[in-house]
Amino acid sequence: MILYDLRCTQGHRFEAGLPSMFSDNPDCACGASTTRLPAAVRRLGEASPGRSREEMPTTWRGIAQGHPDVVRGWHREMTRREKLEERHPELAGDRRPVLAHEGAFAGRPLRSGDALVPEVAKAAFGTKEPSPSDPSAPSAPSAPSARGGAR
Ligand SMILES: [Zn+2]
Repeated sequence: MILYDLRCTQGHRFEAGLPSMFSDNPDCACGASTTRLPAAVRRLGEASPGRSREEMPTTWRGIAQGHPDVVRGWHREMTRREKLEERHPELAGDRRPVLAHEGAFAGRPLRSGDALVPEVAKAAFGTKEPSPSDPSAPSAPSAPSARGGAR
């Protein structure tokens, strides 16, 4: 669960917990659509967890072509973040590599280590597992047939 500050097109601001950064923003109570506010504008007076790994620049342009001050600043931010995550592992989030995040997995990315069949079923049918009565469900491997067994 990640907390986001949201603002709707009518100007209402509220906080909502979303399952992942790929989740759709919830609509405002007034029915208008919302956008996420950057973490930097969170209310003053709240303890700030600092910048998250998702905010860390991933491009050469993002670090101002390697400007020493920018690089040093981000290094300081991330060192602080790392220490914070050591003390509060729940802030680190799921850091397993994402294998698929498009199509059926748009709302909930498939990560390394996830069991593939239940995850695909969940993404495709919205259920945890194919129901036992489903004739298309794979059956347990049957015992070897007697035919050809005696050789
Ligand atoms: Zn609103």
